[in-house]
Amino acid sequence: MRVAFLGLGDLGSLMAAHLTAVPFSLTVWNRTERKARAFASEHSVRAASSPGDAVRDAEVVVTCLPSSVEVEAVLHGEDGMLESFARGSVLLDCTSGDPATSRSIAAELSTRGVGFIDAPVSGGTTAARAGTLTVMWGGTQEDFEVVRAVVEAFGKKVVRAGPVGSGDALKAVNNALLAVHILSTGEGLAMLVKAGVDPGVALDVINASSGRSNTSENLIPQRVLTREFPRTFRLALLDKDIGIAESLAAELGMETPLISLAARRMHQARASLGEESDHVEAVKMIEAENDVVIR
Ligand code: NDP
Repeated sequence: MRVAFLGLGDLGSLMAAHLTAVPFSLTVWNRTERKARAFASEHSVRAASSPGDAVRDAEVVVTCLPSSVEVEAVLHGEDGMLESFARGSVLLDCTSGDPATSRSIAAELSTRGVGFIDAPVSGGTTAARAGTLTVMWGGTQEDFEVVRAVVEAFGKKVVRAGPVGSGDALKAVNNALLAVHILSTGEGLAMLVKAGVDPGVALDVINASSGRSNTSENLIPQRVLTREFPRTFRLALLDKDIGIAESLAAELGMETPLISLAARRMHQARASLGEESDHVEAVKMIEAENDVVIR
């Protein structure tokens, strides 16, 4: 199966690595060409010179880019994908994108006989490396059957969320919850440290109690208490995701003040910590504001 993969970032490079052997014939493209060349030489696959060059002849095209804005850019930009898609091929967009843009891309592609599936993933770089990502997809079953083998190469739990855009919506809400957990757990632990409670002891109790989450069970012990803060998922991307959730709520005419407040706080964290920091580093903003270190 001929597959093109565009976007070899923190996540994309690990996903693409599952598509480098039979039954796949892989072509990769990345904005920074050096990364595509390095990937291609390590895995003996082809590096394309442009998005258009990458998708020519591909049956399945995978995009894993920061947001739907960049997906639009590689579609419509110079030597973009649009004119090169083969009829009958499907664009599998693994970007955590926004539902409205995904619907508009799907409509545009359908006039050319090209399918579209929004298929954001969760599980982070650990699951991406292991090929055990959770994939939440939106689109038609018919289009999904074209991309099924590709999805199953990097996904373990694969769930249809609904029509095009539903995968993006589900992902945005999941990540809004992640943002709320990081911010609320950070505040709670900062408070406990100030109150004289050892954060390790606090987590031991919280993780045996009803306040626990993946943030308290894994992220804080592994990344905050150790002060390691590895870069696996940029804070800028989490800020983008909760922004998508906030916009979706507004589009639906809903009141979601908690999500809006968390979105504002993530935006502040991004502004103060920068584009390259990891999402868990948002805790550092809370620490700085309260003159406390959680360790
Ligand atoms: P990164 O920021 O690490 O990588 C982004 C990729 O997009 C890079 O290949 C980058 O190219 C490329 N890119 C950036 N801007 C443009 C542009 N204008 N035109 C073309 N290509 C561009 O992101 P991740 O790999 O971490 O994330 C990818 C997607 O997956 C995002 O939507 C993210 O929210 C989602 N995601 C990420 C997870 C994670 O743990 N990292 C977990 C779940 C979802 P270049 O190399 O040139 O910078």
